[in-house]
Amino acid sequence: MLAGVNDRFNRPLKDLRISLTDRCNFRCVYCMPKAVFGTPTHFLPAGEAMGREEIAKLVRALSALGVHKVRLTGGEPLLQHDIVPLVGDLAQISGIDDIALTTKGSALSRARAISLKDAGLTRVTVSIDSLDPNRFGRINGVGFPVNRVLEAINNAAEAGLSPIKINVVIKRGLNVVDVVPLAKRFRFSGHTVRYIEYMDVGASNGWLPKDVVPAREILEMLSTEWPLHPVEPAYWGEVASRYAYDDGGGEIGLISSVSQPFCGTCTRARLSADGRLLLCLFADEGVSLRDMMRRGATEQDLIDTVRRIWKGRDDRYSDLRNGDSSRSTKRLERFQIGG
Ligand code: SAM
Ligand code: SF4
Ligand code: SF4
Repeated sequence: MLAGVNDRFNRPLKDLRISLTDRCNFRCVYCMPKAVFGTPTHFLPAGEAMGREEIAKLVRALSALGVHKVRLTGGEPLLQHDIVPLVGDLAQISGIDDIALTTKGSALSRARAISLKDAGLTRVTVSIDSLDPNRFGRINGVGFPVNRVLEAINNAAEAGLSPIKINVVIKRGLNVVDVVPLAKRFRFSGHTVRYIEYMDVGASNGWLPKDVVPAREILEMLSTEWPLHPVEPAYWGEVASRYAYDDGGGEIGLISSVSQPFCGTCTRARLSADGRLLLCLFADEGVSLRDMMRRGATEQDLIDTVRRIWKGRDDRYSDLRNGDSSRSTKRLERFQIGG
């Protein structure tokens, strides 16, 4: 086992988020708006995305540098046909103790949830932005029915993938009215709703600062209904601020990426679907580890390269966002980078 690696701000490399595919069957207004991404021309051609063996080789290399948590994301990761055996491969890697999945749940049948659990998946996050069928259909851009996502959450719970995190992106003028109903729906369910501030990821969602609903406003809305108290983070670098209902109804999380950034404890590396190592959610470029592997790089070569890159990391986009009017608009899209 090799020693871990810290970046220029002394942040260790601990988590890896892998975008399995840049493709998605949804066209969420805040991520992949239909007007921009109506045709498939924006997506990776066949053969460009990393294969199962390449992903496993990379994860083995990164685990030697301290990565112990892996999150599979996308695009829609459940569109990846070999996700179950891939999870099985990753679960065998020494040092990897947590394999999570972020999905919209459209393809999370009961059988698939059980297969993923059996293969070694530890946790699942299902995103759902409204319980109102019309609004949910508008937000996801393809009219996908909300009851199918609620079924997916049940399927995951029944497969033993609970407690489940429920991701909700809140955008002003879009779904602020859903803050309280979503909390109500999942109180006492054992699942944790996590409200995410609408972010300026990518260059296509038309983000404006006025559309962000700050986490403290969400907290106020919830506290008016049900008193809440803060809960200590479960570990250093936890992204969500945690609050528990005073009446024992469980917890909620607030991800205040815009109003109160948490770059100082960011231990996350990302792999785009085409195998680029990205040091930040707002990165616009990254070294292609896929190309290195296709040119014959060994696991040790990958370890040496990633160690060198991580040591030089000084990314802290969200910390700088508010004062930086010259920020690049070249950034990769959220579905290319993953969640
Ligand atoms: N397709 C899957 C899903 O939506 O759950 C996984 C990929 S998606 C890019 C990962 C997470 O990013 C989701 O919870 C999604 O809601 C969130 N997300 C996408 N665009 C966002 C934005 N502009 N601001 C905040 N969160 C966003
Ligand atoms: Fe929506 Fe996720 Fe697809 Fe983006 S990747 S369009 S957030 S389902
Ligand atoms: Fe990490 Fe970049 Fe997000 Fe800051 S902006 S928390 S460095 S991913």
